[in-house]
Amino acid sequence: MEYPNNRADAKTTGAKFYFTGQPCSRGHVALRKTKGSCVECVKEDWKIDNEKRKDKPKSEAAKQAGKRYYEKNREAVKARASARPKEETQQYKVKHKENNPEYYKALTSVRRRKHRNATPKWITPEQKLSMRELYLQAQKMTKLTGERYVVDHIIPLISPEVCGLHVPWNLRVITQEENLIKSNKLVDTPQK
Ligand SMILES: [Zn+2]
Repeated sequence: MEYPNNRADAKTTGAKFYFTGQPCSRGHVALRKTKGSCVECVKEDWKIDNEKRKDKPKSEAAKQAGKRYYEKNREAVKARASARPKEETQQYKVKHKENNPEYYKALTSVRRRKHRNATPKWITPEQKLSMRELYLQAQKMTKLTGERYVVDHIIPLISPEVCGLHVPWNLRVITQEENLIKSNKLVDTPQK
């Protein structure tokens, strides 16, 4: 494609870009916008701005826009996520945890409360200990295998039909993947 070699010509012909062949003030030999500057400079500035944006907390409007994008492009977003290398996802999780300590504190306290509310008063110290051991076992299995193990409540603590207890015989160690499959099934169950 042929471009005018100066802005004046670009303006008269209505071309959106022109090409002088001369480096810009930052040394790019690139197209220039008739209504603006060097396209490589624009790209650079956009990248720098984007890095800064990433560090700032998201505005409510941006969060809503993100949600709308996800609803429209659910499958594509999921495909991109599963194609991403595991290390990258792990790094992102670590960063998210560092940046949102309040969120994770809240999650932990919700989980603790759920467990406390579902623990019967008549539970013995030995039984409590055996539950703690299951959590340690899950941690060990995770370290050993590299796959994430979790403690699952066989009958969920909170479910529309029946609420399980936080007691040793309602606990088992399974992989997170199995756990996710299980919770999807529960969501699929028609609710009365
Ligand atoms: Zn430039």
